[in-house]
Amino acid sequence: DSDLQILRSAIRDVVDFPKPGIVFKDITPVLADAKLFRLAIDCFAEATRAAGAEKVVGIDARGFLFGAAVAYQLGLGFVPIRKKGKLPYKTQSAAYTLEYGEAVVEMHVDAVQPGEKVVLIDDLLATGGTAAAAIKLIELMGAKLVEAQFLIELDFLQGRVNLPADRVRAFLHF
Ligand code: 5GP
Repeated sequence: DSDLQILRSAIRDVVDFPKPGIVFKDITPVLADAKLFRLAIDCFAEATRAAGAEKVVGIDARGFLFGAAVAYQLGLGFVPIRKKGKLPYKTQSAAYTLEYGEAVVEMHVDAVQPGEKVVLIDDLLATGGTAAAAIKLIELMGAKLVEAQFLIELDFLQGRVNLPADRVRAFLHF
């Protein structure tokens, strides 16, 4: 609809960031505009409510910006999944492969409970490697992923095939 169209047109393409050949989708214009930020949070919050989530898990770092606001809006707790070495307490970790090498994400071992229904939130789904590792963490802890939600999905990268596709939702597609 038109709200989503307005949101979509605010996403800025930044050519050759973070390296040559990459066109980065910059979501900061959405954050900076009061109406657009609310629109984005309302999209996530509506879907999170509909999914029956009991907790919001956000991915480092832009997933925190959206996920924390959604958790506040719905009166839910928020859990950060962070890059290796950033969380202070005992962690569970999961590795995933990048174009060159490997990365590790971590979550505190007591952050979600067995059987708890969680929604995973991030700004953008590209290859799906990051989200797949995050979902692995959630499931290692015995929690139940009800939905993985993204503001943006880069359809041409087919990241969805690395995820439980029936539980993936994106509001904007490029
Ligand atoms: P993936 O693991 O799906 O290949 O990459 C997704 C992760 O990288 C997300 O955490 C996302 O924040 C970040 N990312 C990759 N490409 C972009 C992009 O073009 N724009 C933004 N905003 N984030 C990106």
